[in-house]
Amino acid sequence: MKYTIKEFAKEIRKLYPNDYDDLSDEKLVELWLNKYPNDRDKIDFNKGGKDKVQTTEPSNTTSGSSWGFLRTIIWIGLIGGGIYLFYNSNKNKNYTSSDSTSGTDQSSSVSTVQSSPEEQFNSISIKKDISEYIDTTKFITNLGLDENKKKDLKRILSDPNPDPENKVGTSCGQTERKCKWCPNSFNVDGTYSTIYNDVKKLIKPENIFEAYTAAIAGGFAPSQVKDELVRCCNLYRTGERYFCNYNNQEFCSEKCKTEYKYNH
Ligand SMILES: [Zn+2]
Repeated sequence: MKYTIKEFAKEIRKLYPNDYDDLSDEKLVELWLNKYPNDRDKIDFNKGGKDKVQTTEPSNTTSGSSWGFLRTIIWIGLIGGGIYLFYNSNKNKNYTSSDSTSGTDQSSSVSTVQSSPEEQFNSISIKKDISEYIDTTKFITNLGLDENKKKDLKRILSDPNPDPENKVGTSCGQTERKCKWCPNSFNVDGTYSTIYNDVKKLIKPENIFEAYTAAIAGGFAPSQVKDELVRCCNLYRTGERYFCNYNNQEFCSEKCKTEYKYNH
């Protein structure tokens, strides 16, 4: 059976209570479908349109469909690519630490003004539209971030150069992971992405849903979006600009993948 627009919106609201109270059912569903056009098949637009008064469905149908919907979300989250946001600590930082002494470092970097990461961060001028967006969007208000963190987020999104070392998409090495089925370990490749993009994905309006699916894929609940944002702010303050993302491979081989599926 198909959902009406109203029912489909209700399912979204069930998953994210209060987050979208300021959106109409139509708008909410429209935003969702922009992101996930395939879900269009799940909705009967005619039914919602001409039959404004929806008779209540038997409760068993409702819970059944709600599970189906949740499964869809999880599925979307999984194919969305696991986002393993691991802070890659063994990083060569170009700035920091050598501003106090001697003339040697002056010769190595003449062009840049030496200042601490904190100072550099504080000197980013906040763009007006971004400031307004963060101050007025209900979804962000509901996260309960304090004013300082909101200001940090404004600065991050206003950063004119979020990829200063041109590292996005390049390799940041490998990490070892245990096979979900057998005792073997295997290596997964990582690539750099910017913290800026992570923040953007989590709070920019067109990406609200992507944010949640990313959250699910990364193994943390929607309520932890706030924690993730705070973490991003703190890293940015220290001068960090990158995450190392590893792919979401779970098994050491196709054989293990198949055996696991067969046994579950
Ligand atoms: Zn294995």
